[in-house]
Amino acid sequence: MTTLAYLLLGSNLGDRAARLARARTDLAGAAGHVVAASALYETAAWGVEDQPDFLNQVVALETSLDAPALLAACQAAELRQGRERRVRWGARTLDVDVLLFGSEIITIPTLTVPHPALPFRRFALVPLAELAPQLVHPQLSRTVAELLAECPDELKVNKMEGS
Ligand code: ATP
Ligand code: CA
Ligand code: CA
Repeated sequence: MTTLAYLLLGSNLGDRAARLARARTDLAGAAGHVVAASALYETAAWGVEDQPDFLNQVVALETSLDAPALLAACQAAELRQGRERRVRWGARTLDVDVLLFGSEIITIPTLTVPHPALPFRRFALVPLAELAPQLVHPQLSRTVAELLAECPDELKVNKMEGS
């Protein structure tokens, strides 16, 4: 059995586009097939705003892993790029968040899916809406396009042309 998961990739240190590309390769090797990838978006940092802009991208990953194993693969990809955890929401070489895992609702100490901040983050909703505007959020019963239209976040989210 496979599940279609949506992952948010983010980087704001070093060669950001190269980091996202390597993350896609690492995830494909460890966790499944990347079946779709959004454009790259340059986005203003959310939460702790005094830091460089991020590049963000959403990928759709077809995986035979369960959700905790997928999270472990995401964290392994982060570690391979020297991710250090210092400040919450601080600058990082690579961040990989599980936005959605099929239509599953998961609340265990290490993993909350759908990602609880998704409705409040344009940097996640804009690239997700590029791939799956009609996808219905399993808890909120709203489509991604509706969540984006209602999102209160006004921070910059700029599509990188040609990406
Ligand atoms: P945010 O989750 O608000 O975007 P962050 O990405 O900066 O913050 P991290 O330091 O990367 O937070 O992760 C902290 C912990 O969040 C991880 O160790 C992981 O166990 C947990 N976590 C819970 N739900 C998720 C999820 N859906 N995707 C990724 N990590 C999650
Ligand atoms: Ca994050
Ligand atoms: Ca994270």
